[in-house]
Formats: sequence, C-alpha cells, structure tokens
Amino acid sequence: MSFVNDVIARVKEKNPAEPEFHQAVEEVMESLEPTIEKHPEFVKAGIYDRIVEPDRTILFRVPWMDDKGNVHVNKGFRVQFNNAIGPYKGGLRFHPSVNLGIIKFLGFEQIFKNSLTTLPMGGGKGGSDFDPKGKSDNEVMRFCQAFMRELFRYVGPDVDVPAGGIGVGGREIGFLYGDYKKLRNEHTGVLTGKGIEWGGSLIRPQATGYGSVYFAAEMLQVKGESMEGKTALVSGSGNVAQYTVEKLLNLGAKPVTVSDSSGYIYDEEGIDRDKLAFVMDLKNIRRGRIKEYVTEYKNAVYTPIDSSRDYNPLWNHKADLAFPSATQNEINEKDAQNLVNNGIKAVSEGANMPTTPEGVKVFMDNNIMYGLGKAANAGGVSVSGLEMSQNSMRLSWSSEEVDNRLKGIMQSIHKAAYETSESYGHPGNYPMGANIAGFLKVAKSMLAYGIV
Ligand code: NDP
Repeated sequence: MSFVNDVIARVKEKNPAEPEFHQAVEEVMESLEPTIEKHPEFVKAGIYDRIVEPDRTILFRVPWMDDKGNVHVNKGFRVQFNNAIGPYKGGLRFHPSVNLGIIKFLGFEQIFKNSLTTLPMGGGKGGSDFDPKGKSDNEVMRFCQAFMRELFRYVGPDVDVPAGGIGVGGREIGFLYGDYKKLRNEHTGVLTGKGIEWGGSLIRPQATGYGSVYFAAEMLQVKGESMEGKTALVSGSGNVAQYTVEKLLNLGAKPVTVSDSSGYIYDEEGIDRDKLAFVMDLKNIRRGRIKEYVTEYKNAVYTPIDSSRDYNPLWNHKADLAFPSATQNEINEKDAQNLVNNGIKAVSEGANMPTTPEGVKVFMDNNIMYGLGKAANAGGVSVSGLEMSQNSMRLSWSSEEVDNRLKGIMQSIHKAAYETSESYGHPGNYPMGANIAGFLKVAKSMLAYGIV
C-alpha cells in the first residue's frame, strides 16, 4: 500500500460515516502523491496525517422558538481546520442535509482553496441542519441569534472569520452580525458578506460566479480560445449561478440553462439580461421555483428532477462550457460522459465538489479542461479576504477596484495551478496542479512551526 493510501485508510477508520469527507481527502491525497518523494521532510514531520485532522471541531445545540411558540433544536457546527497561513476562513451552510462529514469536507477543501487565493487565510467551515426555506424573517432572526449566541465565543477578526454559503445570504449575515456586535460590543470584521453600509465589500455577491467565469476564460486562453459565442450550461439559480450567468453575458457567451432542487429550464435562445433579472427577482425576492420561468418565457422547457433517472438531463445538451453551480456530486459518470458526447470543451466548477470522482475521471480521460471547484470557485473567498483587508484598513474600494483585483487573483490561481501541473509533468491537469500548489504553501508553514 502506498503512503497516501495509508493516510486515506486511517482517515476512513477514524472518521466513520463521513463519506463526503472521505471523498475530499481521497481526491486531495491522491493528487499529492508526487510530493511524497520530493518532500521527505513533510513525511518526517507527519504533515499528511496532521493536515487531515481539524485543529478543532465545535459542535453545539441551537434552540429557537418559531412564530407559534414551539421550540425547535438544531445542530450547530464550526470546524476550524487549519490556520497555518492565516485566521480560519470559510462559509456557513444552513441546510437540512448538513452533518459533520459535510462540514469537514468543506473545511478541508477550504484549506487548499484559501491557500491558492494568494491571501493569508486558513481553512474552516460551519453551519447547521436548520432549513431557512419556508421560515418567516422573525424565525430566521431568532435562529441566527441562537446560533451566534454560542459561536461568538470561538470567532474573531484575527481568529476565525465565517461567511455566507448555501442558505446563508445577506439576511442571515445581518442577523448573525447584529447579534455578534451586541454580544461583543465591537464593530469588527468578524463575518464577511456584510451589507455594503455596514462593512461589506462591493462585488462580494458577484465574486464566486464572476470568478468561475474568469477561470474558464483563463483555461480557454491557454488553448487560444475565448468566451465569445460559446454556449454554456449552468446549474443552480442561487447566488453563484446568477452571477455566473451575468459574467457569461458580459463576456459574450450564451447561457442556456439554470436549475433548482426541483428541476431545470432549458432556453435555447439564451438567458439574456432581462431573463436573468426575472430569475433574480424570482429567487431572491419572491423566493419562488424555477419552473415559473417557463410561464414567463414560453419558448423555454422545464424538466422536473426525476430521482429514478441515473443521469441529469441538464448535462445532456449541446454546449461548449459547463458551470455546475448548485451542489456537491451533481455530475456523475454518466453526466460527464453526456457532456463529453455533446462536445463540451471546459468545465468550471462554481459549486464545491459538484463532480463525482468517476465523473472527474471521464473529464481527465477525454482531455476536457477541468477547473475543479477549489480553484475555479475561489473568487468568493478571495473577495471575502479583500473584505477583511478593507475592514482592517477601515476603507472601501470601488467596484472596479475589487473586480480588477478579483480578476487578477483568478489569473494567479490559474497560473499557479497550471504551472504546478507543468512542473510535475502533467500540464493542464488542474486538480493535481491546484491541490499541490495549495498544499505546498500550507505544508511549508506547518513545517516552520514545528510539531504543533
Ligand atoms: P444558494 O443557496 O444561493 O443556491 C443554491 C442553488 O442550488 C439553488 O438554486 C438550489 O435550489 C440549488 N440546489 C441546492 N441543493 C440542490 C440539490 N440537491 N439538487 C439540485 N439543486 C440544488 O447557494 P450558492 O449559489 O451560494 O452556492 C452554490 C454552490 O456553490 C454550493 O456548492 C456552495 O458551497 C458553492 N460555493 C458558494 C460560494 C458563494 O460565494 N456563494 C463560494 C464557493 C462555493 P433551491 O432553490 O431549490 O434550494
């Protein structure tokens, strides 16, 4: 058995029933294999076993009262995974599917992603199995206050800076920050994704979607191609998907799909700016379902999710580019094969780990430009890092300044991933390049600190 397989086996044994965490560790460790020989000092210092064990895992009870006076209890999580290169940084996810394994997978990924951004940020992640869907604003507020009433002990602008994520948007960040401010009596950059009036950064809402399109543009440029005129499949219709569509339009591409957890729409004529405005209003203001798109735009086709199917028809249309921007494991082996059969050139992952390992293999075997989430969706956390910088300096940059910095960071991430893949003999193998580049910075820092 190889050294990395031993590490993976120990992770599985010590962390049973956490399949998403196992999957993330397996994916990273396998691509780190070539570093073992080059860096015996890492092996000697136990870096590989240390990096898969969180610095700290915080689990807590979140009791709250609904509008009818009934008491509910949810689980609260914060995993502070690694702070070798900066304060823990990573979002919060409020979704009924949240469990410890999912938070650990996300926190582990965040270590490497944050390292790639070129900014000084460690890795962490948190959340709850609370479902904000169908709750009143007051219920969401009471939940967020109960959540922060415990979390405030463990976070701080130089310690751990959480952010939004699935189910945690501007409304939730407002309630969370309001309670932190009340409890601590201080106005500091302890959360990112804040409102623009109270310490937020311009372009933060746009950052992940914009960044994943910038990353795709960089991959295309290596092959002498541009975004202009390319047809794109986008999944999701939340924050990431919406701004992916917007930047695709800015760069002259044609997005033709968006989805939610009930189904997807295919609009052969393209989702233009007016249609995007409709989707934003539908999802952000009216909190409706994506199927309403087809009542407004009759040419589009709605297909509901059918769990008896072993593939997602969204990924079975002719297109040049794919931007999975909904959730983990949304492209399986068959979906990846369908994309390849339909002539896909590049995949840029807005979501975290949206492609299964079997799906990734299909992309790699077919020489598809595959921008893994860790690199392609790092725009969000990058602008969060820029929000931290602005908070520390107590000033705010203009939209143009932040967008330019975001573009520059995405170019640096692409360059680091591409050049590292080249130097390890596999040019264009972005998973290998991104994982190794992200790892080296963290591992060298851990080595410098001794055994801590
Ligand atoms: P949102 O909550 O804004 O949107 C998520 C979208 O995905 C919604 O359209 C949702 O549909 C859909 N969705 C959720 N679960 C499923 C499912 N099981 N099957 C099909 N569709 C689903 O989240 P974001 O846009 O912020 O996040 C999307 C992805 O991007 C996540 O993986 C997140 O971790 C990742 N990400 C986000 C960042 C950010 O800055 N926002 C940064 C980096 C990564 P519905 O409306 O029905 O719930």
